[in-house]
Amino acid sequence: MFLLGVVILFFNKLKNLPIVVLLKDFFKEDKKQKNKYKRSSYLFTVPKYKESRNFNIAFQKHKTMNTHEHFMKAAINLAQNGMDCNCGGPFGAVVVKDNKIIAEGSNSVTSTNDPTAHAEVLAIREACKSLNTFQLDGCVIYTSCEPCPMCLGAIYWARPDKVYFGATKEDAAEVNFDDHFIYDEIELNFNKRHIPFENLMRKDANAVFEAWLNKEDKTAY
Ligand SMILES: [Zn+2]
Repeated sequence: MFLLGVVILFFNKLKNLPIVVLLKDFFKEDKKQKNKYKRSSYLFTVPKYKESRNFNIAFQKHKTMNTHEHFMKAAINLAQNGMDCNCGGPFGAVVVKDNKIIAEGSNSVTSTNDPTAHAEVLAIREACKSLNTFQLDGCVIYTSCEPCPMCLGAIYWARPDKVYFGATKEDAAEVNFDDHFIYDEIELNFNKRHIPFENLMRKDANAVFEAWLNKEDKTAY
């Protein structure tokens, strides 16, 4: 115990740190890092450890920032590459799970004659296929542009944890990808929409809903 005190005093003097703080930190950290730091080596490395702990916090913040930017960069690269190969519009998206890209998509509307082949939809489809699920729990979507109403809907159905987007929908509107008219359409009466909607055979359609309610072997979602 005496020897321990001498060692503490020695390091304390060297680094000009209050013993109380050192000891407090020591016991606090030692509990948390029980498996990582042995008492003796901890005392020997206290000043360095304190520095490295600060460094680690800064590094983690930096790393987190870089990770988000890394994934967004991947989405932006997909937008650029998809455009360069004439696959479709300048939009890209990736789905990330456990810090890994599990699915990618770049707009392929014109090359596949599929008006729904937006980057986010393609990435969501690929992610669900690879995870063998219809829900993207624990996933994050990085998309080069704020999603259009269709992709917004797809994202809500897929239920990822979060979405990061690069360009805004206003930026997209500036280069003639204006999807605001779709939001306007939602508010309009069915017969006032640019594409008229008309209600037909509601009772028959509802009979299937009734059957769904009573179906015992359904996969609810
Ligand atoms: Zn879209």
